[in-house]
This record gives sequence, C-alpha cells and structure tokens, in this order.
Amino acid sequence: MISCSLYIHIPFCASFCDYCDFYSVNVNDTNDDYINSFLTSLVFDIKSQIEYFNVDKIKSCYIGGGTPSVLGKKIRFLLDALNKTPQFTPLEFSVEANPESITEDLLSICRGAGINRFSLGVQTFHEKSRIAVNRALYGEVLEDRLALASRYFPGMLSADLITGLPYQNELIVKDDIKRLLSFEPVHISLYSLSVEDGAPLKEKIKNKTVTIQDGDFSDSLWLEGRDELINEGFIHYEVSNFSLPGKECLHNIHYWQMKNWLGAGPSASGTIIDDNSGGAKRYTYLNDVDEYIKILREDQKKADKKPSFRAVNSEELDRDTLLKECILMGFRYLKGPDPNLFKKRFGSAVEECIGKTLEKWKDKDKMLFLNSFLYDAFTELDNGIY
Ligand code: SF4
Repeated sequence: MISCSLYIHIPFCASFCDYCDFYSVNVNDTNDDYINSFLTSLVFDIKSQIEYFNVDKIKSCYIGGGTPSVLGKKIRFLLDALNKTPQFTPLEFSVEANPESITEDLLSICRGAGINRFSLGVQTFHEKSRIAVNRALYGEVLEDRLALASRYFPGMLSADLITGLPYQNELIVKDDIKRLLSFEPVHISLYSLSVEDGAPLKEKIKNKTVTIQDGDFSDSLWLEGRDELINEGFIHYEVSNFSLPGKECLHNIHYWQMKNWLGAGPSASGTIIDDNSGGAKRYTYLNDVDEYIKILREDQKKADKKPSFRAVNSEELDRDTLLKECILMGFRYLKGPDPNLFKKRFGSAVEECIGKTLEKWKDKDKMLFLNSFLYDAFTELDNGIY
C-alpha cells in the first residue's frame, strides 16, 4: 500500500497565451459529448491507477491544465467521482481557474465538493502587457471575477503573477501585487517570464512583433516583486512561491520532496518511488486527447479493467538518477529534501552526499542561485566524494 498525491490535467483552454507551451486544445472546437467522453476516460484512468499502484490514501489533489475552469458545471462529474473514491482523502484539494471562466455556478460547485485551494491565473492586471501576450480578459471584469472568487474561497485563494512581461516596469509590478493583495490571497507564485521553444511568443520576438525585457531588467523586476511580497508578510518558501505562514502548497511540497504522485490526463506525468531501492517508475501521458479517450475506453472494456499504460511513455529511474532529482527538487524548497526519506532511499544522509557543497553554501541563498548550487552539488556527486 502506498500513499500519494494526484495531479489531474485538464487539457482545454478557451484562448491561448503566447508564452505558454503546455498541452491544451481549444475547448471551443469540442462539444458536450467530447468533454463527457474525456471526463469518463479520466475518471476511469484515476480509479484504475489507484488500484494498480495499490494506493490507500490520496493526500493531496491538484486539478490543473490547461484551464480546468473551462469545464464549467461539467467539473461536477469529476469532483463527485473523486469524492466517492474511498482512497480519496486529501488534506489539500486544489483547482486551477482563469478569471474569464469563473462563474458563481463553478465556484459554488467547487466549494460544495470540498475544494480548499482555489488557484487563479492572474499574471498581470496591466492591460497593455496582457494584450501583448494574448492573455484574455481586461479591465474591471478581471477584478470583478477575483472579488467573486475571494468571496467563495476566503483564506483559500492562491494566484500566479508573471514578471518580465512586455511593458512592465517596477511600478507595474508593485501595482500588480497591491491589486492582487486586495483580494486577500494566502499564496502567490511569482514567475519570471520564460519563453519556451514551442511557444508562439518565441516567433513574435524573432519577428520583432513583440519586444520583451532584457534579462537583467527582467531579473530586477522579479526581485522587486519578491521584496514587495516579503514586506507584505509572505514567506519566500520555494524558488517561485510565497505564502502566508502555514499556507504553503502541500501538493507542491510533495513534488519538491519527491513523494509519490499519480498523474492522470493527457501530458500528465506520475512517479512512483521504491523507497527501499531508491529507484522509480515514471510515466507520462501522450499529448493527445483523442488517443487518450480511445485507449482508456478500450481499457475500460477489458474484463480485468487494468490500465494498459498504452497512452504513456514510461521510464525506470535508477538510484543515481533519482538521487540527483531529489537534490534538484529538494533544494528548490526552503526546507530542503525530507531527511528521513532521503536516508531511507539512498542509505546516506544529504550531508554525506554533498557535504562540501553544503558547507560552501551555508551562508548563501540556495534558492536564488539554485543553478550554481546544483552545479556544485552535482560536481561533488559525480566526483564520487560521498
Ligand atoms: S497559460 Fe493557461 S490559459 Fe494560457 S494557454 Fe497556457 S494553459 Fe491555457
């Protein structure tokens, strides 16, 4: 029996932001039957994974995407199915939403189903920056939706902001934070804009249709945002995450401490770790909703109803790979890797593996200079000093 977290990927969006390369299809190109088939396959996927991996407890659940809120009232089917699953006993139950698809119906269904963390993609309130990256919803409507969400989820609101967007400056970053704080979020993720290769923004920058901030200025905007959040009483507890005391995201802490998680839905990934050998199985669903529905439907018709994992890429992680991953993920988090789990998995304490690096970095900010810290840590590991 294992306990784990559950990530669910809802691969639909109503519009597409130019900086994003997540897997998602346009919900407006689908119809009710298609969404219903997807949700039926998804619920089967989750239940069969729970059985297959012998899960007795799901400790946290995060419904992300894509944009889960575009499911509207249909999200009830998924939430009800989860709540009827005996192993589903999460301390933290999160759903991601974009302000444009927030309605009172959606909020009330989510609240009624036990969602206790409502995570909003805000990014910026500044209209010129939103338009430059094709981020939907402008002006007062955006703030009206946030006000509505904060009425339904007082003390349970989480939000994302991005720095380094076109037209941003320090005043705008401060203004974004001030306006967001008026809705009383308890958790804020502050990301620095990164333009991945597959994202449309990459092409626009190349064609000079959009100009983004230069690297140093972009870094200074993020630091300005970080200082502002700390001044407002938020704790910087992970590379990009800030929370009020006691309001850290448990689900993400499970990732950073590399505890087991199931992943369901196209492009979702899960990792199940053998704590005794330090090895792990990782599986990642293909970026293909049609194929996902088809394969899961076929699996459902099989007599044993076991998942075939035909819609996934699977890999086995050996001890050394997992050890590096535990260090890489663990030091994103202020408290570092879970010491007991680390020792149990790898037979040595973190200090025994990267002692020289930890000594060198003992007075430096590991989260802020994570890449340099990891370079030292991996060099020490590769030299076999531990
Ligand atoms: S950022 Fe969110 S809403 Fe925008 S395209 Fe990506 S997944 Fe969809």
